Amino acid sequence: MMKNIREFDYCIYCFSKKENIDSPCPTCGYEAEYLGLPGWWLPPGTVLKGNYMVGKPLEEKEDEFHYLGWDIERKLLLEIVEYFPKQWVTRDVTATEQVNCFPGKESLLEEGRQQFFEKAKLYFQCVSRVEDVLHMDFFFRNQTCYYIRQKK
Ligand SMILES: [Zn+2]
Repeated sequence: MMKNIREFDYCIYCFSKKENIDSPCPTCGYEAEYLGLPGWWLPPGTVLKGNYMVGKPLEEKEDEFHYLGWDIERKLLLEIVEYFPKQWVTRDVTATEQVNCFPGKESLLEEGRQQFFEKAKLYFQCVSRVEDVLHMDFFFRNQTCYYIRQKK
C-alpha cells in the first residue's frame, strides 16, 4: 500500500480521476479497500517497483494474472501481468504480497519465472523493432516476475 495513498486522487480500481477521494468512485463505484476479489489477486492500490499501481483484475490466463495498472509518475494506464503458476504457488494477500512456493517446487518456480522473464524480454525486443513502444517494463518482485506495458 502507498504511504500517501490518501493524496492519490485517482480511483485505485479503474484509475479515473476523483474529485473527492473519500467518496466511492463515480465511474466504477469502487469504495472499499478490498471487495470480494478472488483470493490470490493483489489488492487494488498495491504499488510495484515504487511506481506501478495495481488496480482492477482483468483476466486470468494459464499461469498469469492480468491487472489494470497505473504508472504513477507518467500518469498512464497500463496492463500489469503477474506470473502466478497456481500448481506451484499460492498467496495469502491478507498477510503478504509475496507468492508462497509449495515445498519441493522451488526449482520449477525458478525455471518458470525465468522463462516468463525471457519471453517478456523477447516480446519487447520484437515489438520495439516494428513500432514505437511508449512504455514497457519487466522485473522480479514478490518472489515472482512481472511484465508491464502501456494500455492502448
Ligand atoms: Zn473507479
